[in-house]
Formats: sequence, structure tokens, C-alpha cells
Amino acid sequence: MALPTALSDYVKKIGDSAKAIVVGMGVTWRYMVRPKEIITIEYGSKNRAPTKRYIPDRHRGIHYLETEKCIHCHICEKACPVDCIEMDGSREAFEGSWQGDGTFMSRFTLDLNKCIFCNLCCEPCPKECIHMGQEFDVASYSRANGVKNLLTDLPWSVDDRARESEALELIAVVEVEAKERKKREREAKKAAKEAEKKDNDGDKAGS
Ligand code: SF4
Ligand code: SF4
Repeated sequence: MALPTALSDYVKKIGDSAKAIVVGMGVTWRYMVRPKEIITIEYGSKNRAPTKRYIPDRHRGIHYLETEKCIHCHICEKACPVDCIEMDGSREAFEGSWQGDGTFMSRFTLDLNKCIFCNLCCEPCPKECIHMGQEFDVASYSRANGVKNLLTDLPWSVDDRARESEALELIAVVEVEAKERKKREREAKKAAKEAEKKDNDGDKAGS
């Protein structure tokens, strides 16, 4: 005698569910005994990863900067579609700065709260010195910690802000001094050229 349709559907569903559980548990048990086959990695399991280097080379993680190569050209800042890079500095030396390649920096920050990890800042860098690294943990109890100081690899702090304010005052002074020095040098060069020309003209008139 055939079972009523509703009852046979019910029994079939129980059978399907039991089968799904057995298949699912089979996968779980397989990975329990062969952890090297695991593809999905538990968040934060860096030290328990099945292989030493499990994050792909092209992973777009948290940025880092090779400060000594940076020329403070602002190209990365301008390329960022969400304006999350900020930098300050000068080509003139001032105290308390971080030194790049011919530049002096008081600030180079990246707001990871806004970043969309698009890599558009890294691609046009003429010195290839800003990179997206392997680090992925941006979780924090405070949004303020999401602003990374790329010059220290730490969150942008109150001390950093104070240091930047002092630096901006120094930059204003050294840049005015540098402008005046360059003007004096230009004038001295011009005067030397004119004196040389006068001497040459005098020599020609005398001969
Ligand atoms: S990855 Fe994209 S959004 Fe993030 S800082 Fe670079 S350009 Fe801006
Ligand atoms: S594009 Fe490169 S060199 Fe220019 S400011 Fe950015 S990191 Fe520095």
C-alpha cells in the first residue's frame, strides 16, 4: 500500500536531512584529520595556519611605507578616490621630521576607516614605496585607532598631532628662510655674471 503523499514527502525530507548531516560531518571529520587540506582560514589564526605563508602575495592588506624612499610628491594622496591619505612636510630640513629621499615629513597618515583597499595609491607611486601588505586585522575599539601613521606603523596619536603642529610652525619658518636664501644666491650669481661681463668688456676696450 502506497503511503499518502504528505507522509512520503515528510519521510523523504528526513532522509535528505540525515544524508546532508552525514555528508557535512564527513567534510568536517576529513579536515580534522587532514588540516593541511583546509582552504578557508579561521580569522585571526595566523599562528595556527596550515602553511607558513598562507596569505597570497597580491593580498591587499594594511599599507606600509618605505619612508626613506618617499619624495613626498603627493601622487598617492591625489590618486586616492576617498581622500584618506594626508601628508605634510617640506623639501627644507626642519627638526623633528622623518627623512625621505630629499624630503622631510611631519605627517603621512592613512585612514583605514575610509579606505576601500583599491590599491590606486600604490600603482602610480614613482618610487614604488607605498605598498599594501599582508596584515589584515583592522579591528579596533576606537575609530581613532583606524588612522595609521605610516611613518611609525602605529595609530596616529595625540603626541603625533602635537609633533605635527610644532613641525608646521618650523616648516613655515624654514621655507621663508630658504626662499630668502635662494633669492640672495640668485642675486649674487647675477651680480657675479654682470661683473664678469664688465671685466670682459673692459679687456676688449683696452686691447
Ligand atoms: S587603497 Fe584605495 S582607498 Fe585605500 S588609501 Fe589607497 S587609494 Fe585610498
Ligand atoms: S606617491 Fe610614493 S613617493 Fe609620492 S608621496 Fe606617495 S608614497 Fe611618497
